[in-house]
Amino acid sequence: MLACGTTASQPIILSCGHQMPDQRTITIIGGGLAGCEAAWQAASRGCHVVLYEMKPQTFSPAHTSPLLAELVCSNSLRAEARDSAVGLLKEEMRRLDSLIMQAAIATRVPAGKALAVDRQLFARFITDRIEQHDLITVKRQEVKNIPLPAADGSIVILATGPLSAPALTESLAELTGREHLAFYDAIAPIVEADSLDRSIIFQASRYDDGEGDYLNCPMSEEQYQTFIAALKAADKVPLKEFEEPRYFEGCLPVEVMLARGDNTLRFGPMKPVGLLDPRTGAEPHAVVQLRKENLGGTQYNMVGFQTKLTYPEQKRVFRLIPGMAQAEFTRLGSIHRNTFVCAPEVLTPTLQLKKRPDLLLAGQISGVEGYVESTAMGLLAGRNAVDLLQGRQPVSPPPETALGSLIAHLCNSEPKRFQPSNINFGLFPPLGKKITKKYRGEHYAARSLAALEEWRRG
Ligand SMILES: Cc1cc2nc3c(=O)[nH]c(=O)nc-3n(C[C@H](O)[C@H](O)[C@H](O)COP(=O)(O)OP(=O)(O)OC[C@H]3O[C@@H](n4cnc5c(N)ncnc54)[C@H](O)[C@@H]3O)c2cc1C
Repeated sequence: MLACGTTASQPIILSCGHQMPDQRTITIIGGGLAGCEAAWQAASRGCHVVLYEMKPQTFSPAHTSPLLAELVCSNSLRAEARDSAVGLLKEEMRRLDSLIMQAAIATRVPAGKALAVDRQLFARFITDRIEQHDLITVKRQEVKNIPLPAADGSIVILATGPLSAPALTESLAELTGREHLAFYDAIAPIVEADSLDRSIIFQASRYDDGEGDYLNCPMSEEQYQTFIAALKAADKVPLKEFEEPRYFEGCLPVEVMLARGDNTLRFGPMKPVGLLDPRTGAEPHAVVQLRKENLGGTQYNMVGFQTKLTYPEQKRVFRLIPGMAQAEFTRLGSIHRNTFVCAPEVLTPTLQLKKRPDLLLAGQISGVEGYVESTAMGLLAGRNAVDLLQGRQPVSPPPETALGSLIAHLCNSEPKRFQPSNINFGLFPPLGKKITKKYRGEHYAARSLAALEEWRRG
């Protein structure tokens, strides 16, 4: 029996009175980034974990690999420097023994100031660690219903991601009172490296000296005007009847950005600042950047070029980009449905469902956005599940930390306007003193890491 006695924002403790933790398990549904991280955290603390993953029997529209922890789109975990919010979040997770961070470091590919990985090696690393762990049992099976509360106080973590299978999504909708929402995320095309014209495309990272990790396709003003005219006129895939176009600002389709003004792309993904074309010695009018997709450097991802253009139109329009006239596409861009709960309505700060304290949500479905953020919620859910199972009160990380700031976003946002968010310094409590922008990140990081260390000690 569960003794709930919950309030809206308090952590919920299960007063099960069980004294046999070894008899009980943490069931995790979904073997993606969040589910694997949660499993690792729980097993590392001595708990038995059963991890359900529906692949390879069933694949979501974006998953293709039988491996666990598949990256469905970009191979980048974004900025690495600690004075960026996402770099800080990664540092916090590294300090909390994150499996996904270990994998990222072990399988990284050069990507300037970003932490990008070879997606195959990354998923293989994680799959091996999870499958070989003595306390983790992996079951390759789709879960169709959310398990009922267990009489023995076992805990369930739901980590089925933005493309959760329909039956389980329906089961969650029933449980949360249909307080889940849909929005859209986007995939950028990948091109074959040897189909690129390197006499036009130059290699450089923004502001960096030396060789640089990105390939840059430079555009003159005239070429830019031709390109955006073609992009505007190109055929787009129409939205389905049930789809309502709601995009994240950080993941807008190029055509949606362009609809905001002719120069929007030049201030966004096509920003030329800090990139000098060696042929002219000057900054081009605009630039399309390509980032290594695999360690071998045989494929490149078009940075920020997520799109809802039809496939033939993507080929036609993107081949207008200088240096890409003969481009062969390994993958074309697309946009997918995404599922998440209205966290401020349904979740506690410990990621427990208010209605079901034995059920925690992790990953994108909890209301965060992004690989790193989803993993972070898996990390916290795994630790909290262990506390609950062992009769301790789970404790949220301090709000000064990146982890705590994400939790604050989930729990303190206005429910009616709630939207998932990437980590950013806007989610952190203000610094309380005026600091110039250049040094603000460092101050957030110093404050956060000090708070994290104190929390770990406490
Ligand atoms: C198309 C698309 C592109 C994205 N691109 C990016 C990007 O480039 N960068 C970024 O930072 N974020 C991106 N995201 C957002 C998000 O960060 C990732 O989807 C991330 O993988 C979420 O992690 P997760 O663990 O919550 O879910 P996932 O990694 O999707 O893992 C969920 C797992 O659960 C399994 N599963 C689902 N239902 C069931 C069931 N009923 N039973 C058993 N198993 C089940 C799935 O097969 C999957 O393996 C993208 C999202 C989408 C949809």
